[in-house]
Amino acid sequence: MAKIGFIGLGAMGLCMARNLLSNGHKVIGFDFSKVAMDAHVENGGEIAISAAEASAEANFAIAMLPNGDAVKQAVLGPSGVAEKLPNDSLFIDMSTIHPLETDQIRQDLLDQGISMVDAPVGRTSVEAELGKSLFMVGAEKCDFDVVQPILACMGDTFIDCGGPGTGSRMKIVNNLMTTSLNVLTAQVLTFSAATGLNQNVALEVMGGTAAGRGHMSTTYPSKVLRGDLEPAFMIDLAKKDLDIAIKFSETLGVPISLAIQAEKIYTDAQADGRGRQDWTAIFDMLRKKQQSKS
Ligand code: NAD
Repeated sequence: MAKIGFIGLGAMGLCMARNLLSNGHKVIGFDFSKVAMDAHVENGGEIAISAAEASAEANFAIAMLPNGDAVKQAVLGPSGVAEKLPNDSLFIDMSTIHPLETDQIRQDLLDQGISMVDAPVGRTSVEAELGKSLFMVGAEKCDFDVVQPILACMGDTFIDCGGPGTGSRMKIVNNLMTTSLNVLTAQVLTFSAATGLNQNVALEVMGGTAAGRGHMSTTYPSKVLRGDLEPAFMIDLAKKDLDIAIKFSETLGVPISLAIQAEKIYTDAQADGRGRQDWTAIFDMLRKKQQSKS
């Protein structure tokens, strides 16, 4: 059984702390909200008057806080975790924050002799409630092994992202994809309805193509990720279809802003002489442009 200080008992933290409790750990919670602290006590947890007190003599201190400023305050500020967490214990930040803030907090803690693991969470509070979160872990190898049994109380998937700071980076990359796709999904389904299509039909069709299943698990593995740019579906044709969609959406009065941005990139690809390459060659083009800048 470990003693765990848990800072931030909100939508995510409260149920994660409860899952630690139900696995037999001692969890001392701290949150600015009295309602959150009361709920943690109802779940069988203990509470402290500060992040520092919650972390005193703990084996782990965990933060599940809204942003980087909150993490800095709770960890490095007055009455913060760093004041009382023993040096042979680990601080685990599960919050989603800017990766450069993660690096700075980790360095500041290291200067005080405390090791940190960044382990942001994939999926939502629905899975957190069920103990089925996914963790993107940025840690030294030895720390990864130490935190895994603790994370296993709260989730079912732990991915070693490749060293300190990489969990935080992975989370932002992941969320760039999911947050942008959310907008594209909403725009496309709005357009679909405006064309007169039944929504269930649209969901069924797109659930069976790269549109709904995603390029990473359909088109990319057999083409651009293998260095194969021979066209299964060429850029010229993809752009023709995108142009039709943009024109039709404008006619229907539901312009799709992300499609207009995408169209510019297909135009760049054609200008780059890639019109007859596979549509996944867009990735090859962007990656090469980036490499030539750095
Ligand atoms: P939330 O707002 O419900 O909870 C945050 C809690 O932190 C609140 O109870 C607040 O009172 C407390 N808090 C803020 N500053 C504090 C401080 N300095 N000291 C102590 N307590 C403090 O947020 P959430 O949904 O639980 O999200 C927490 C983190 O998890 C965020 O970084 C979020 O981006 C990330 N996340 C959320 C989800 C989700 O589905 N909600 C999924 C994955 C990751």
